This record gives sequence, C-alpha cells and structure tokens, in this order.
Amino acid sequence: VLDVDFFRRWLTTAAASMEREADHLTQLDSAIGDADHGSNLQRGFRAVTGALEKEPPATPGATLVLAGRQLISTVGGASGPLYGTLLRRTGKALGDSAEVTPAQLAEALGAGVAAVAQLGGAKAGDKTMIDALEPAVAALATSFAAASAAAEEGAVATVPLQARKGRASYLGERSIGHQDPGATSSALLIAALAATAG
Ligand code: ADP
Ligand code: MG
Ligand code: MG
Repeated sequence: VLDVDFFRRWLTTAAASMEREADHLTQLDSAIGDADHGSNLQRGFRAVTGALEKEPPATPGATLVLAGRQLISTVGGASGPLYGTLLRRTGKALGDSAEVTPAQLAEALGAGVAAVAQLGGAKAGDKTMIDALEPAVAALATSFAAASAAAEEGAVATVPLQARKGRASYLGERSIGHQDPGATSSALLIAALAATAG
C-alpha cells in the first residue's frame, strides 16, 4: 500500500527531476513554444516542495491536492492549471484514506487525466501531455515501471505529430519534428512515480 510518505517522496522526486531537466524542457519549448516550460515547472515544483515542508498533509489525497493548488497558483503558463488539475483531481479521487492501493491510484490518476483532457480539450494525438499521461494510466494496471515506459514512449511518439492544442498549434505543420515539452515533463512525473515505488 501507498501512504502519505510515498506521495511526498513522489513529489519531491518529481521536483528534483524538473530541476535537473529544466534546461532541456525549456529547450524543447523554445522549438515549438515560448521557451518557458522548464522554468515554469521549476518554479511550480519548488512551491510544491516548499508547501509540503511547511504544512505536511496528513493523507495521500491531501498531499496531491496541496501540490495541485501550488502549481495552479505559481505557474502562469498553460501547464500550471493543467498539471494543477491533474494532481488536484487525482487527490480528490483518492479521498481521505491514509493508505491507497496501486489500483486505487491508477483509477484516481485516470480521473485526473480525464479532467486535464476536459479542461484543455486535448485528445490523444494532439501533441500534448495527454499523449504521455493516457498510455501511462493504461499501463498502470500492469506496473509502475510499465507506466513509466509507456509515458516515455508516448512522449517520444509526439515528435512526428502536428500540434493541435496550445501554443505549438500556432505553428501548424512547423510543429512537426519536435518532441512536445509537456509530454516530456509528464513522462518525468511518471518516471518519478516509478522510481519512488522502487
Ligand atoms: P505555455 O504554453 O503557456 O508557455 P508551458 O510552456 O508551461 O505553457 O506548457 C506547454 C505544454 O502544455 C505543451 O507542451 C503541452 O504539452 C501542454 N498543453 C498546452 N495546451 C494544452 C491543452 N489544451 N491540453 C493539454 N496540454 C496542453
Ligand atoms: Mg511555454
Ligand atoms: Mg508561456
């Protein structure tokens, strides 16, 4: 079972990944966006770790809800509300139990990803974070490692796609040939989950 400490470690591991990969994420966003994805997530996840230290939540659900709120309030770009919604909705779906099973987390993350799709209007193949998150949720039924591999595969598979949502869609066909920054950071988030599960 997964307890509040597991979720805290997941988010701090994810924050470390965003720090480490910030330049790379910003580089990807400079090709098809406005070159701020890495700094957006760096700022957002710093706020997440700060809030978790200052007011440690008692449950897995509250941990994700707090993190989601921090991302929404500190990230001005499109990714803030989208990632914020992902974590907040996933946290709400977990309710207030002290421990959750991997199956419960898979179901809750499914609700979180559905909320992101609803908020942003993106479907699979639109070259967004959905292209990493949807396959990850599907593979979560198998294992955390399978989910991480599926997310990474989904992110790489955005390269030949033409963006149909977000800033990159303004480029039309010129968005083809570049990996989507948000799908890339989503793969980092799921990789952090798998790393935390060990
Ligand atoms: P901004 O585009 O506002 O500068 P970021 O650079 O932080 O925000 O995030 C860009 C990423 O957000 C994209 O790579 C894409 O994955 C994701 N994104 C943008 N719009 C949408 C949307 N409508 N639905 C899902 N994801 C989106
Ligand atoms: Mg950007
Ligand atoms: Mg921006």
